[in-house]
Amino acid sequence: MKSKASRIIETKRQWVVLLAILGFFLTTNAQQTANHVLAFYSPGVERDHVIFAEQAVKFFAAEARAHGFEFSSTTDWNNLNATKLQGVQLILWLNDSPHTPSQRAAFKNYMEHGGGWMGFHAAAYNDESTGWPWFVNFLGGAVFYGNNWPPLPALLDVDDRSSPVTRRVLPHFMSPANEWYIWKPSPRANPTVKVLITLARTNYPIGLKDTIEGGDVPVVWSNTRYRMIYVNMGHGNEIFNSGEQNRLFEDALELLLRQSR
Ligand code: ZN
Repeated sequence: MKSKASRIIETKRQWVVLLAILGFFLTTNAQQTANHVLAFYSPGVERDHVIFAEQAVKFFAAEARAHGFEFSSTTDWNNLNATKLQGVQLILWLNDSPHTPSQRAAFKNYMEHGGGWMGFHAAAYNDESTGWPWFVNFLGGAVFYGNNWPPLPALLDVDDRSSPVTRRVLPHFMSPANEWYIWKPSPRANPTVKVLITLARTNYPIGLKDTIEGGDVPVVWSNTRYRMIYVNMGHGNEIFNSGEQNRLFEDALELLLRQSR
């Protein structure tokens, strides 16, 4: 017959084994559900775009801690390769886009196989020297045409109030100083594009040196053929000064991550 002491030890052992098994499953489950967001930016571009990128890295690192996803950033665009992108649910381009054929090919392959992308401001800049027609199509056909100068705050109109991205911003909200881009053709002309936010017409004329006099200026949109959202904000050190707009960034990121599951 077992002594009382040995029965207690046995019970303890059973508990240890049970907790170890439970711990294993919890850890495995956590590893399976932890999303990984990887941000790319260039340190040698226009100063105001670097300032934005550095602030964005801090902002999304804090978001990651608060919302339980993994976040890392790199200034090496050669990290746009199949090996590095394995297990990455969402790529952020903070102030630039890839310039070499292999980086571009890796991105195209990633996006065409369910990858996620959120691009800011200069990330979508393209002109005749860009030489990457696939990327223009990916953006919904948007080609950079011009911008206001200097950067100015602007009133924005929410086009789609039913989108999870815009659920926590007012139908018309003030966005901090930014250099606003005009697109010709406009992404709105593309039937697969869903425009979420537009520069309000009450801003016109906006600018001093370079002025946007009028017209339709989409600011946030998604080409629904891909898991992607573009936001035009991203110039200078004021972008993250609006709690309301920060919630928009947070909700856009969260939607893109949710769509990856
Ligand atoms: Zn800019």
